Amino acid sequence: MTKQQRVQLRQQIEADIRNLEEQIETLERKTKPISPDCGLGRLTRLEAMGESHVNHKVLDESRLRLTRLRNALSRIDHEMFGICIDCEEEIGMGRMKIRPESVRCVACASNVI
Ligand SMILES: [Zn+2]
Repeated sequence: MTKQQRVQLRQQIEADIRNLEEQIETLERKTKPISPDCGLGRLTRLEAMGESHVNHKVLDESRLRLTRLRNALSRIDHEMFGICIDCEEEIGMGRMKIRPESVRCVACASNVI
């Protein structure tokens, strides 16, 4: 990974973190408990609960990704950043751009599951 690519990735991670923080804030507002007597309009209470369940799931995933991105940011200046923890080959730049929090290359990541 070149210095330039590292700088690019850092900017991208920082932008992703900001986006996620905003998304999490919005979801936290949406996932507040539904009071039994609040006017739900056209949504039935059951639908509202279903939507809330989905939001909780997205919220959990967003929080997990935020943690991973923050970890990535703390590792970015380390020489092992961008190196697969299993095979120690460089993780492709294409993958790092999509998922800068990756710690494994595509081949090793597909072995993990
Ligand atoms: Zn690997």
